[in-house]
Amino acid sequence: MIAEISSLITSSKAAYDIAKGIYSLKSEVDRNESVSKILEVLVSVQFQASSVLAKAHELEIEKHNLAKKLMEFEKWSEAEQQYELNEIATGVFVYAYKKTTENKEPIHWLCTNCWKDKIKSIIQKSSVGTNYCPMCKIPIPTEVFSQATVNDWNPVL
Ligand SMILES: [Zn+2]
Repeated sequence: MIAEISSLITSSKAAYDIAKGIYSLKSEVDRNESVSKILEVLVSVQFQASSVLAKAHELEIEKHNLAKKLMEFEKWSEAEQQYELNEIATGVFVYAYKKTTENKEPIHWLCTNCWKDKIKSIIQKSSVGTNYCPMCKIPIPTEVFSQATVNDWNPVL
């Protein structure tokens, strides 16, 4: 984009220089030729300005998207501090909510599969008594999931 802006400035200066020299021209033909050159340069300047404007618009969108990603990253990073990875049974891992004085939500576990995609999906008990992640539907063995074990894995700090 810097090259386009530099070219825009150079073209504008060329048009200015041609216009400045018109007064010194004696013949009508030379003046008409200069006006024609100025118009040619102005069309070029208009084209270059449109290109710079389009690029500026793209950069504005990119900036907005990056700001949004940064905000999501910061928000996730803050949420990450509230959980720790626990092996609640042999080979069964969850992200357990830490019990601290700042953390006020009820004790719960998050799905490790969804966690890697920065999604907080709370493991739920279905109406038939099985446990699963509502997002990715990964089942959690029922024998390792009960309120007692949830509290066992979230000791008060
Ligand atoms: Zn999941």
